[in-house]
Amino acid sequence: MPIYEYICLNCSEKFSLLQSVSCDQKEIICPKCSSNSVKKMMSSFCCSSGSGKGISSAIPTGGFTGGG
Ligand SMILES: [Zn+2]
Repeated sequence: MPIYEYICLNCSEKFSLLQSVSCDQKEIICPKCSSNSVKKMMSSFCCSSGSGKGISSAIPTGGFTGGG
């Protein structure tokens, strides 16, 4: 059963609710202030672009050896 997260627009309370696929979506009520002004939050699964890391520049080591 998928769990959806909701946020209350009244008291900014975040809560998760279980939603069955068969049952119709009932009116979501905030468990804190009992307000029906709630908004479903998207699950943040996608990876956010972090800072530039792992950039290893090939630094040529000085020192030529003969080669003849
Ligand atoms: Zn609330």
